Amino acid sequence: MIKKPILVVVSGPSGVGKTTIIKAVLAKRRDIIFSVSCTTRPKRPGEVHGKDYFFITEKEFQKMVKNNEFLEWAHVHGYLYGTPRRFIDEAFSNNKSVLLDIDVQGAMKVMETFEDGVFIFIAPPSIEALEERLKKRKTEDEEKIRKRLEDALWELKNIDKFQYLIINEDLDEAIHSLDSIITAESIKVRRLEEDVKRYEEEVLKNG
Ligand code: 5GP
Repeated sequence: MIKKPILVVVSGPSGVGKTTIIKAVLAKRRDIIFSVSCTTRPKRPGEVHGKDYFFITEKEFQKMVKNNEFLEWAHVHGYLYGTPRRFIDEAFSNNKSVLLDIDVQGAMKVMETFEDGVFIFIAPPSIEALEERLKKRKTEDEEKIRKRLEDALWELKNIDKFQYLIINEDLDEAIHSLDSIITAESIKVRRLEEDVKRYEEEVLKNG
């Protein structure tokens, strides 16, 4: 099959488990790669430059903004985050689909330019569950957690802008849902023009 590459945007509040779900799905699939964002946020223990993020200075970030190097960028929880355009262009020219893990503001910007993108919202089963997760992972102090929860409320009010909703109550189920959405989207007839043409020519020619 000749599949057209797709842009999959996964969004939702910080602490909802997006990264865990995304990593599990990417480990299973060879047709989609992760778009590594640039950020001015300090590196957390265990994070790798160029793999989790490109950790850059505010000056470097602003230079990239000026040079129009981002598909989208946003202020998220007090830092700057952006999706480099070049990476997506390169992946598409190699016929690979791309998965973006970005916040809701960023996703809404991408919706304006990528009408054919697939937009998925991952939500927590409750605000309490989200708060508990943020506290447990111990990557932010009290004040930063409060800011992330405040932002989460705004994000949750925008679920209706997305095409799919995954409520992360059961991790395996959430992983299965994301994997299934990507599979279903990539075999939509409108994305398989060449296969449909070939099918008509080869299989239906004597019909
Ligand atoms: P964290 O600091 O926890 O890694 O990420 C914080 C938030 O920033 C997450 O919701 C994540 O999806 C979002 N984010 C990561 N990269 C980007 C990006 O390139 N653009 C936007 N708009 N948000 C991003």
